[in-house]
Amino acid sequence: MSARSDVLLFVGPPGSGKGTLSRRCVKELDYKQLSTGDLCRQHIAQGTSIGKAIDLAIKSGKLVDDALIADMVKEWFLQAGDRSRVILDGFPRTVVQARVFGDFVAKQLKHDAVSVVRLTVSQDVVVNRLGARVVCSKNGCQAVYSTDPHSPFVSLQPNICDRCASALIKRPDDEVSAIVERLKIYGMHEVQLLAFYETLGYKMVTLDAGGAADDIFAQFARHLSSE
Ligand code: AMP
Repeated sequence: MSARSDVLLFVGPPGSGKGTLSRRCVKELDYKQLSTGDLCRQHIAQGTSIGKAIDLAIKSGKLVDDALIADMVKEWFLQAGDRSRVILDGFPRTVVQARVFGDFVAKQLKHDAVSVVRLTVSQDVVVNRLGARVVCSKNGCQAVYSTDPHSPFVSLQPNICDRCASALIKRPDDEVSAIVERLKIYGMHEVQLLAFYETLGYKMVTLDAGGAADDIFAQFARHLSSE
């Protein structure tokens, strides 16, 4: 156990299953998940000044300002009680964010083990997954479902959240034009980000995220047991 990384950075395009894998790790492996996308959507739903400033960027699939995101993450870490065994889902997304986070880890968290879990998947799979994704409209729930009848994430009743019975909606950035933009932006940053992690000496594992959620989780669990 002690050899395991304290902070895992999940890196992968939108729709690669970072969120799904994170939630399973929280449930079954006692990790904590920080999703910067969820934090951003909470700000928007609550109508905070940050929410108002980032609303348009999110809807159109663009990235939110690096400094703003980095501040949200630092605040989350400083407020979190036990800061070990954390999964960062969707952060850092740029080298600027990775640099700020690397400094923060060194100064504040003293974690000796940050490692990267990279999820790879084809663009066709991403477009299909995100095209079928619906989420709970209730702020604070944000449960994720699929309308694909073959998916294990279909809700029990159409368009109703299993957990809180609120309506399910499509995320505005899961519209095709925004998906294309998000994939383009991800592609612009991925190579530099991974190269930067290499210079920092972070350990990295690559999972084939094109298959079923159970299969991705099994690959991840195998990786953990081999650490
Ligand atoms: P996600 O839920 O991870 O797909 O993120 C949804 C949206 O939130 C992204 O398309 C961005 O607009 C914003 N976002 C989330 N994380 C970040 C980040 N680390 N840097 C910049 N923008 C982000």
